[in-house]
Amino acid sequence: MATLIAYFGGSFDPVHQGHLATATELLTTLSLAKLFFLPAALSPLKTQSLASQHRIAMLKLAIQDVSSFFLDERECQRPHPSYTIETLRSLRAEYGTAQPLAFIMGMDSFIHLPKWRNWQQLTDFAHLIIVSRPDYDPDLSTELQEWLNNRRCNDRQLLECHPHGFVYFVTTHPHAVSSTDIRARIALGQNTHASLPPLVAAYIQQHHLYGATATNES
Ligand code: ATP
Repeated sequence: MATLIAYFGGSFDPVHQGHLATATELLTTLSLAKLFFLPAALSPLKTQSLASQHRIAMLKLAIQDVSSFFLDERECQRPHPSYTIETLRSLRAEYGTAQPLAFIMGMDSFIHLPKWRNWQQLTDFAHLIIVSRPDYDPDLSTELQEWLNNRRCNDRQLLECHPHGFVYFVTTHPHAVSSTDIRARIALGQNTHASLPPLVAAYIQQHHLYGATATNES
């Protein structure tokens, strides 16, 4: 029986097909028991972010048909800013010491890990699952590489047998879409049809988010 529970952190500003396709693929390839989307209140590394109630509303619309997808709103309910180490600490306290937990992030986020608060302690609370993104095969800093050497694992089973402690890299099918690109396209009135779930596109239109106007096709 699947035991690994994973949390997919991000701004989700807005959630898009790249997030959803990646999450769907991870459910299967990693045999996840559950996958929680974990929207950040306001990323300490990003200056602008849409009000969390809109990002949460779009996430709810995007995941409503997948029974293994859940939403965790704790970071949006916390005073700014939200630090992942605090989230993982609180999750570990809730689940207890034995439950295997993982935090999912893209490779583009992982290369900046040394900027995160108490980043070296993240694996004291959960495994890290690092997802490849198209055209992204960066050199890691020496500091990050050295930290990784003691934690990297290639055996998926280890993620289920241990509650935390490992870093696992997974290559998923590429989806060359980003929230930044989607926001720019919406502001220009361009079509974002292929990049957004239809209900999310409709929500953006209805609430005139990201500069959407009635004439946008998305
Ligand atoms: P932005 O363009 O605003 O930086 P984003 O599209 O990267 O946004 P985030 O909400 O910042 O989306 O991403 C949340 C997590 O999802 C990050 O770890 C990011 O690496 C990952 N991610 C985002 N887009 C993709 C994608 N197309 N394929 C795989 N992972 C993705």
